[in-house]
Amino acid sequence: MPESTLAPITGRATLALLAPVSGVIVPLEDVPDPVFAQRLAGDGLSIDPLGSEVVAPCDAVVRQVHRASHAVTLEASGLEIVIHVGLDTVLLQGAGFHPAVKAGQQVRAGDVLLRFDIDDVARRARSLLTEVIVSNMDRVAALRPRSGMVVAGHDVLFEVELTTDPGTIAAPASADSAITSAPVVVGARTGLHARPAAVVAAAARRFAADLRLHKGEQEANARSVVSIMALEVGGGDTLTVVGRGSDAAEAIQALVALLASDLDAGAGEAHAEAAPVAPVAIVPSTTEPVAEGVLRGVAASPGLAIGHVFHLRHDDTVVEQRGADPAQEQRALESALSAAHVQLEGLRQRLTEEADADHAAIFAAHQELLEDPEVLDRAAALVRAGDSAAWAWRQAYTSQADRLSALSNAVMRGRATDLRDVGRRVLQLLVGGSAPVDVPADSIVVAEDLTPSDTAALDRTKVRALCTTMGSATSHVAILARGLGLPAVAGVDPRILAVPAGTRVVVDGDRGTVNTTPSADEESRIVARQAVDSERRERDLAVAMEPATTTDGHRVEVVANIGAVSEGARVADVGGEGVGLLRSEFLFMDRRTAPDEDEQAKSYRTVARALGPDRILVIRTLDVGGDKPLPYLDVAAELNPFLGERGVRLTLARPELFRTQVRAILRASTSGKVAMMFPMIAKLAEWRAAKALVEREREALGVAPIPVGIMVEIPAAALIAEQFAREADFFSVGTNDLTQYTMAMDRTNPRLAPQVDALHPSVLRLIERTVAGARAHGRWVGVCGALAGDLHAVPILIGLGVDELSADIPLVPAVKARVRSLSLAECRETARLALEAGDGTEVRAIVAQRHP
Ligand code: PEP
Ligand code: MG
Repeated sequence: MPESTLAPITGRATLALLAPVSGVIVPLEDVPDPVFAQRLAGDGLSIDPLGSEVVAPCDAVVRQVHRASHAVTLEASGLEIVIHVGLDTVLLQGAGFHPAVKAGQQVRAGDVLLRFDIDDVARRARSLLTEVIVSNMDRVAALRPRSGMVVAGHDVLFEVELTTDPGTIAAPASADSAITSAPVVVGARTGLHARPAAVVAAAARRFAADLRLHKGEQEANARSVVSIMALEVGGGDTLTVVGRGSDAAEAIQALVALLASDLDAGAGEAHAEAAPVAPVAIVPSTTEPVAEGVLRGVAASPGLAIGHVFHLRHDDTVVEQRGADPAQEQRALESALSAAHVQLEGLRQRLTEEADADHAAIFAAHQELLEDPEVLDRAAALVRAGDSAAWAWRQAYTSQADRLSALSNAVMRGRATDLRDVGRRVLQLLVGGSAPVDVPADSIVVAEDLTPSDTAALDRTKVRALCTTMGSATSHVAILARGLGLPAVAGVDPRILAVPAGTRVVVDGDRGTVNTTPSADEESRIVARQAVDSERRERDLAVAMEPATTTDGHRVEVVANIGAVSEGARVADVGGEGVGLLRSEFLFMDRRTAPDEDEQAKSYRTVARALGPDRILVIRTLDVGGDKPLPYLDVAAELNPFLGERGVRLTLARPELFRTQVRAILRASTSGKVAMMFPMIAKLAEWRAAKALVEREREALGVAPIPVGIMVEIPAAALIAEQFAREADFFSVGTNDLTQYTMAMDRTNPRLAPQVDALHPSVLRLIERTVAGARAHGRWVGVCGALAGDLHAVPILIGLGVDELSADIPLVPAVKARVRSLSLAECRETARLALEAGDGTEVRAIVAQRHP
């Protein structure tokens, strides 16, 4: 039994810390890094590790797992204990590290905290020396180090004698004399990770003043390394420093200079020369001026809508704080929890029966959240203290959700939304209202984010459009809105939240704007446009079953993009000639584990059968990473997720996951005209590895060959399309990614949205090259990015020689109609002119002039 408990020795409590990793003890002063050697981060020891498993040195609560997974902070008996594996390992951005715990988790001595690939990390990092540091030394009266070899979780590394009086931190001299610095841009390239945080905390401790770092709404105690790290400050982030006390002005000056300096360089020495305070970059919200009252976001679902703002606000139900009898309140809470369970079970079953496994899985995940001990324990404690069940429950779930949503990790933030969703469900049961949200007619629903439960509770006949301040063109809300044919703008300027309820606004889902002060003239223009649009939609739909053939007899395949099994049945109704892109990742999202082979095969087969034997179904293998994280995949946090382990890179690195999906697709291929393609292919080696896996599984299953192709969405693939075309059966151009990678503009950044134009001639030239490569080997080319549904782009894509256009379901009839209005010969000329244009605006002008 490992010894790690508190034991009084010299009259003071002592905590024995076990070695978290096996190896040889190295005194801190011998660590070749001044932050550790000079004990700027705190006192402790280092270990030259022989093992690759890091375990808890004592019973503790995990306070933080660093974004780069190389460091874990624990709290035990009021001590902050930082375990930092290797030197400069933050630069590996998580590669080679596999955390086994999460912030907030309780651990026992000897429990595994993280594992690392010792050979890999040793090769890539400056050193493997692993530091075990107590960062709040004000709680330490004495530290007794050991020496020699230690075995992880077994041998004591050092003992800490605790101070009897923890209140050694100087109190602010005057609470009301706060001084706030000018904003400072953090100069450390990799942000305030352990080392720079330690330098800042050490500097702060030299002053008597109470010093706080502010990042937006968040605040950290500048003396605490842990508190600073928990702020998750990235390089280039803007902070302000707030100080109180007699030497606050001097302290602020020192900290601001330090924060602005490149703390990464020289490991701490850099602050000696105070760098000038970097000016705060003033980023225009867009390069395209917008009129007053117009708020910008990302075009998430096309269409125009006029309506009245309806704020879907969460957690604002009025509840009494004080409860009746605690036992009675606890019973009320328990019965609301079980009623919520029953509701969720009902929803889950209904969706399963409707073969909507993806959404069923969301509600299954919500059921699990209802059992989260962190939330339940906190609520029970508040009830015991005399709070009402509703008050206690709301406090418990919102505080936990707030903590999650404050993290930079997109996966954790996603869990916060789920927790709020399920939390509100229970709250409504407690306060006696489970009725759907009463949305007034002609509502523009405005929210920070919309959950599946929110949208399920909305009366869709009254909703005209959706606006969220979070999300992107590829987020859930965008996909949901596009499927429903509702205009939507995501990532809207948060000022929308302050627009009074009932305000008449215009939502432009094509441009991604919300006009909060539309003039009467503008409204009438829009009403007229809506009437024309709806008439055209009806006309297009009436002939949607006809093929899309140009006036000079050239046939173009028009197919649909789908993201859910249930959408398969709608494709034929709008004249879709198949599915050009099944985004299979949506079957994997909003659930706790990946669907197994049988479940996937069943889902793919359901779509294949809905399409019938003659309509193609192109299933794209899992494309997670980037803006689509999967909580259960243990993907290390990355500084640039869109340039990281995404798409086929991720599935090739997880052969079991990939193999399961490939087998499921192959099994379903006997039920229809199924093809498979891989996302994010950049290199021939990736294609070959993925294709080889498909062949192996196909032979093992004994099924006939199916077409196997690649997404062309990385310029590298477009540029050597000819080489790919020798081996791949077809190409599908993903213009959403191809544009972001060609222009180096994040597709989810609302401020760049107006500039990320897939009609930029650079993107068109890559498509031209892709088609040329395909033609050389008789392959076909589809376009499945949003450009395929852009009516301006249709003549150009046809002119460039694209064979298939794959658009969102509601857009299919319009794309087919557009094709029928064009001639191939004219489209070729239009494409030629577009390739010579200077930018996307010029391209649009050419199209407007030639194909009005
Ligand atoms: C694309 O990148 O254009 C594409 C179709 O894939 P996704 O939008 O799912 O990344
Ligand atoms: Mg893509």
